[in-house]
Amino acid sequence: MKGIIIGGGIIGLSIARELFKKGIEITVIDKDMIGKGASWVAGGMLAPQAEGLEKGDFLNLCLESREIYKEYAEGIQKETGKDVGYWECGIFVPVFSEREKEERLNQLKLYKEIGLTGQWLDRKEIEDRYISLGDELLGGIFYPDDGQVDNRLIMSALESYVRSRDFVVLEKTEVKQIVSHNGNFQYIKTNKGNLEGDFCVVCAGAWSGEIFDVPVFPIKGEMAAVDVNQDDIDTVFFGSKAYLIPRKNYDRLVIGATEEKVGFKEGNSVKGTLQLLNGLVETLPHMKNRNVQELWFGYRPATPDLEPILGESHIKNVYLATGHHRNGILLAPITTKLISELITEGKKSEYLDKFSFNRFV
Ligand SMILES: Cc1cc2nc3c(=O)[nH]c(=O)nc-3n(C[C@H](O)[C@H](O)[C@H](O)COP(=O)(O)OP(=O)(O)OC[C@H]3O[C@@H](n4cnc5c(N)ncnc54)[C@H](O)[C@@H]3O)c2cc1C
Repeated sequence: MKGIIIGGGIIGLSIARELFKKGIEITVIDKDMIGKGASWVAGGMLAPQAEGLEKGDFLNLCLESREIYKEYAEGIQKETGKDVGYWECGIFVPVFSEREKEERLNQLKLYKEIGLTGQWLDRKEIEDRYISLGDELLGGIFYPDDGQVDNRLIMSALESYVRSRDFVVLEKTEVKQIVSHNGNFQYIKTNKGNLEGDFCVVCAGAWSGEIFDVPVFPIKGEMAAVDVNQDDIDTVFFGSKAYLIPRKNYDRLVIGATEEKVGFKEGNSVKGTLQLLNGLVETLPHMKNRNVQELWFGYRPATPDLEPILGESHIKNVYLATGHHRNGILLAPITTKLISELITEGKKSEYLDKFSFNRFV
């Protein structure tokens, strides 16, 4: 069987890897170079609880993915010999006002009702741990089961996986159309010619709506990174002013992220950069003397309800794995499992009903 994966982000490459292991011949197509879309740009937080997701199917999907992340990350690490920066560091959610505190405490209560963990820490309890804390910071909730992966490291590892094995990787090759006949997949039209296969999977991130009839659109995010030391911060801070992500080896502190519906507008704006750096300094004031390492931006693949589109499409043998919005790094393992089981075993998990494209028809 031959499969075509459209898009070499974390979703496309993870599905490609799994299907390849099951003996399927895989071609990965990317309009750019593989691994340089949103998946390269992201923060890498594995944060269903810090994100404050409400009880329901989407939270459950995210929790299941968090549950299997270790195995997924270690598998990639073992097969490639490359560290992916997976770190069960927990995530601290600092709050800066009484209103925020009340909201977050209510959330914690709901999480506890469904057996999830988390703990409120008063400012006094954490003050000694940090060189400085912003004046407005009242305390926060620590979620020990959230964590992070270094998305750039995992993308480099996935890239090396597909490049060092028998995959066909077509880069700078743009899919223009998925051609069907009588509701059946026929072939893919690209700027460099046509491509045939038994099936294809649309994993084109924020661009998916340009090549297939799915309501996926970009939400731009700007990011920054600064120098960091181990004494500065010991875990991810997921605050309303900014989120701060120290990498496991302390080579950088990643700061995220703005959110704007401005299409595919490029560049880091003054406004966005100020938002990120002010957020850092209002959380950890002493960081204002650190060097900025990098500014960058990218596009979250969003859908009207901000939840992903997974599973079969209206065309037989065209599968969808897109629209992961703010949580695509987190959702890579569960998406891979659901889509690969659907393709190879015909297994239709209930999640595929819940996150079907049909909800938008
Ligand atoms: C600023 C920011 C911060 C984020 N932080 C987090 C986080 O902390 N945790 C988390 O879980 N998620 C985070 N996300 C979300 C996450 O990055 C995305 O949901 C995820 O990377 C989507 O992966 P993907 O493989 O679908 O898309 P991408 O990584 O964008 O890959 C899509 C690929 O498809 C290719 N492509 C597009 N169109 C075509 C075409 N016509 N033909 C061929 N190829 C095509 C692109 O070139 C690209 O390589 C963040 C996103 C942003 C922007």
